[in-house]
Amino acid sequence: MTTLEKGSVRVRIAPSPTGYFHIGTARTALFNWLFARHHGGQFIVRVEDTDKERSQPEFEKDILAGLEWLGLKYDEFYRQSERGEHYRKYLKKLLADGKAFWCYHSKEELGIEKAEQTKRHEALHHFCDHKDNPPTDKEKQLIRLAVDRNIEKIGWHDLVRGDIEFSADTVSDVSLAKDLDTPLYNFAVVIDDYEMQISHVIRGEDHIANTPKQIAIFRALGVEPPQFAHLPLILGADRSKLSKRHAAVAFNQYIEAGYTPETIINFLVLLGWTPNDDKQELISTQEAIEQFTLEKIHKSGAVFNPEKLNWISNQHLRQLGDEQLSSLVLPFVQRNFNQVDNVIVSRLMPLLRERLEYLDQIKEFGYFFQAPEYGPELLVWKKSDAVGAKQAITKVLGILSGAGEWGDQKLRSRLDEVATTDFAGDRGAVYWPIRVALSGEKFSADPVQIMLIIGQSETANRLQTALAKLN
Ligand SMILES: [Zn+2]
Repeated sequence: MTTLEKGSVRVRIAPSPTGYFHIGTARTALFNWLFARHHGGQFIVRVEDTDKERSQPEFEKDILAGLEWLGLKYDEFYRQSERGEHYRKYLKKLLADGKAFWCYHSKEELGIEKAEQTKRHEALHHFCDHKDNPPTDKEKQLIRLAVDRNIEKIGWHDLVRGDIEFSADTVSDVSLAKDLDTPLYNFAVVIDDYEMQISHVIRGEDHIANTPKQIAIFRALGVEPPQFAHLPLILGADRSKLSKRHAAVAFNQYIEAGYTPETIINFLVLLGWTPNDDKQELISTQEAIEQFTLEKIHKSGAVFNPEKLNWISNQHLRQLGDEQLSSLVLPFVQRNFNQVDNVIVSRLMPLLRERLEYLDQIKEFGYFFQAPEYGPELLVWKKSDAVGAKQAITKVLGILSGAGEWGDQKLRSRLDEVATTDFAGDRGAVYWPIRVALSGEKFSADPVQIMLIIGQSETANRLQTALAKLN
């Protein structure tokens, strides 16, 4: 591997604004950005919006917002829809040089040819005879590349996958444009990569089939193609291509769920790349920049594991101080419970640090912020009855009104005492109704912990409410 000169790296991502920012696009963007930052190069965003019907401004906005949220700042920005003159210029040049020509074959004729090739199990191709013999009685249909018929193979050394070679007939006479004002995908990509002086094309392996076509266009222009590095697919647990069946694929869902940018970068960078220490699972963005090289990208697919994402996320949240964590949590408290309770949130810190996997999970702790709703039957312990539940709650209310009892160990020993004296040592008879009265749930945080967090008067209110339900 040759060492790259500082500043010689120019990479791009080229999203189409025909859908929301996708988790796979985010991974491709991250790898390009890391590669650029590692080498002190440029990271370029090029919006490929030539499909006028499917491209929408709201999708472009969503993609750019996702990149900004991740902190992947770009150095240059382009839209293909604003670059028509560039494509026109090179189409005219290629036509004038005899490197491109008009094909007059109609859609119907091409359809018949395609059907016959399919029947013969051939790779689809169109070698057009109109370059040398343009018909006089037909309409111009497409501008095609005049591929050199003497070439048998088109290949390249892929920086991830090694040598790749295609037989030249898979390239055939590539369609470049519908007309001078309507460039087609591969042509626009090549012109842009050339004019933007892209040094490395780092993209998903679903683009491998486009690469020989693009190389043929570069050669027709008489320029060297950039280097290519094709990233492995992101797979679901069943090793098929990641889709909605496996996990959320719309990037915005991860923002909404309350993962931090550092968490997502940590998770995405491990999808198909290994740090120097191949056991390392927690990596900061700065470390990833320092270590990122294409040699460490995997050839085979990367499995997307949502449980690993949650583990990484929890580990990142654990590293935050109280102030940082609570400022992240508070907007999610407000969103879920329509209130901002700084006091409760600050008391919750140790519990959240241990348990939160993503910030919106705060909604599972609703009973810390608002009185729970539940039916009276839930208050009754399986070995006891409504009378027993009332008795236990009344006793605990009595403890609360006594001075000097507010504290973890004191509360626990008094509750245990009630179990011993009134319920023959059955702690469930006390803790069960108290837990339900405080949380409305069978499984919640420890009831004494809830008491200490919601405070003495709110605890008393909830116990009174429970008693009223039992009457
Ligand atoms: Zn033709």
